[in-house]
Amino acid sequence: MSVPAKAPARPGVTSATRVFALLGDPVGHSRSPVIQNEAFGQAEVDGVYVAMRCRTEDLASVLRTLALTGGGGNVTLPHKERAARLLDVPSDAVRRTGACNTFWGTGDAVHGDNTDVEGFRRAVKLFLEGEGKTGSLAGARILLLGAGGASRAVLVSLLDEAAGSITLLNRSAERARAVARRIGGASVRVAEGVESLKDERFDLVVNATRLGLSADDPLPLDLGVLESADAVFDLVYGAAETPFVRSARERGVPAVDGAEMLVQQGAVAFERWWERPAPIGAMRAALDVGS
Ligand code: NAP
Repeated sequence: MSVPAKAPARPGVTSATRVFALLGDPVGHSRSPVIQNEAFGQAEVDGVYVAMRCRTEDLASVLRTLALTGGGGNVTLPHKERAARLLDVPSDAVRRTGACNTFWGTGDAVHGDNTDVEGFRRAVKLFLEGEGKTGSLAGARILLLGAGGASRAVLVSLLDEAAGSITLLNRSAERARAVARRIGGASVRVAEGVESLKDERFDLVVNATRLGLSADDPLPLDLGVLESADAVFDLVYGAAETPFVRSARERGVPAVDGAEMLVQQGAVAFERWWERPAPIGAMRAALDVGS
C-alpha cells in the first residue's frame, strides 16, 4: 500500500512555535500579520502570527487558549473592551482605558496591555521631539478629536506626559464627558461643539475619530475655525496621505498620519511577548513607512 506523500512542513514551524493571532471582526484589512511576521523573522524568534476573524461569543475561549498554550496576540474592533475583562493580569493602561489590544500568557495567567497608549506616546514624541525639532508634549495645549477607544488611549498618554491643557471635542458631547470623567477628571475640558473653539490656539490637534477612513468622509475639523494649530497628528492611516493631514499641510501646518503609531504599538506588543527590543526598522519597512 502506498503512503501518500506528506505536505512539507513550513520551515521553522515546530511544536515549539508560539502562535499569535489578531482577534477581531473584520480582520481582513489588517497589516499586523505582515508587520509581526517580518519582525519575528528579523529577530529570529520562534513564532507565527495570523489574523483570525473571531465572533464575540468565541472571544473568551480563543483568547485564553492562545495565551495559555504559550502564545498570545492582538485584539481589534469590536472586542477590545470585552478582552479587557478576560484578563487575569491587566496592565495599568488596560485598567485606565478599559480596553486591551495585546495579550499573552505566563504559566497559568493571561496578561494584557493596551499598547496604543505607549505606541501613541512614542510616535507623537518622534513627531514633535525628533531630531532637529523643538516641540514637546509637556505643557502643550492639545485639542483631541474623538471619544472612542483610540481617544481614551491618547488621553492617558497625554496625561502621563503632562500636557498643559487637553480639550476634548466629539460628535457626541455626552460620550466625551463620560471619557473625561473616567480618565481625565478636572484636567480635561469638553468642548460643546466646534463653534466654541473659534479663535482658540492649540500646539497640537490629534484626530482620534474614524473620519478619514473612507474617501467620502468629511474632515474631522476645519482647521480654519481655530485661531491657530501648530501641528496635526492623525491616527488614521492609509496608502495615501489622509485628507486631514493634507488639509493641515496645505495650511503650512506640520502633520503626520497614524502609520508610525501603528508600527510603534506593534513594537510594544512584540516587546511584551518576547521580552526584547523590537526590530522597528524591519517593522516600518514591512508597512512601507519612512522612519
Ligand atoms: P471608535 O471607538 O469606534 O470611535 C470612533 C470615534 O469616531 C468616535 O469618537 C465617534 O464619535 C467618531 N465618529 C465616527 N463617525 C463619525 C462621524 N461621522 N462624524 C464625527 N465623528 C464620528 O473607534 P476607535 O477604535 O477609537 O478608532 C478611531 C480611529 O483611530 C480609527 O480610524 C482607527 O483606525 C484609528 N486608530 C489608529 C491606531 C494607530 O495605531 N494608528 C490605533 C487605534 C486606532 P461618536 O462618539 O459621536 O460616535
